[in-house]
Amino acid sequence: MGWFDTVEWPKDRDGCRWNSTADGGQVRVYLQGVGHVRVHAHRKVEGVVKTVSVKREGRRWFVVLSCDEVPALNLAETGGVLGIDMGVTSFLTTSDGVHLPNPRHGRRNADRLAAAQRDLARKQRGSNRRRKARERVAGLHGKVRRQRLDHAHKTALWLVRHHDVIAHEGLRIGNMTQSASGTVEAPGTNVAQKSGLNRSVLDAGWGVFLNVLASKAESAGRVVVAVNPANTSRTCPSCGHCAKGNRVTQAGFVCVACGFAGHGDVVGATNVLRAGLALLRA
Ligand SMILES: [Zn+2]
Repeated sequence: MGWFDTVEWPKDRDGCRWNSTADGGQVRVYLQGVGHVRVHAHRKVEGVVKTVSVKREGRRWFVVLSCDEVPALNLAETGGVLGIDMGVTSFLTTSDGVHLPNPRHGRRNADRLAAAQRDLARKQRGSNRRRKARERVAGLHGKVRRQRLDHAHKTALWLVRHHDVIAHEGLRIGNMTQSASGTVEAPGTNVAQKSGLNRSVLDAGWGVFLNVLASKAESAGRVVVAVNPANTSRTCPSCGHCAKGNRVTQAGFVCVACGFAGHGDVVGATNVLRAGLALLRA
């Protein structure tokens, strides 16, 4: 038996009903053949529920909804434009100088997941302990994925609420992770160092975040623009001088030509915003 079992009830109000009792606080789902089941809702459900599926991960069950007619986010223009720098130290830094930290649980659960995977590898095939270890891995996988998605939704919503234009670096996450391990013919350089960074790249879930941001922005009529990330971290926002030496440390930026000093990530976000606005004017 597999550990990911999914059953789909094809139509809401037929064999299944979301929020079947609607008695105020407690949300329930009605499933034909099962009855009314209490559920814990992670996010507010918007639109019309189209399908309800029930999915098992390890020992826990989840209700997954797909919705139609999700209302557009009706937001007034703010006049705000923003550049974001996506980093390792902070999840993202804005051109206004706001540093959003990486989700705190993310790293802890990623460590737990890695430990659970090591534990699973040590268990004897076919044993009861192996089955339990596998359940634990599946459960943690799901937890990491749900937290990442939740964090992406909240962050993206905050960004689109307050800004008409959001510029970000066009990241090629797939390529970045590939380049560290390299291939058999051409092993990656600095594999150990890069895999640390790549892990953070994956943990931070930028790919997930950018997808969520794009769909929220579309629904709110906001503009999201991806810019070429080359030189955004080493160009001086004051005089335009571009040099590797401008970036003193991960956080420190001092222009070797004019002496302008600032936070490296804020400088990056400012350059991303400028490049984004230039693209939109072009
Ligand atoms: Zn300068």
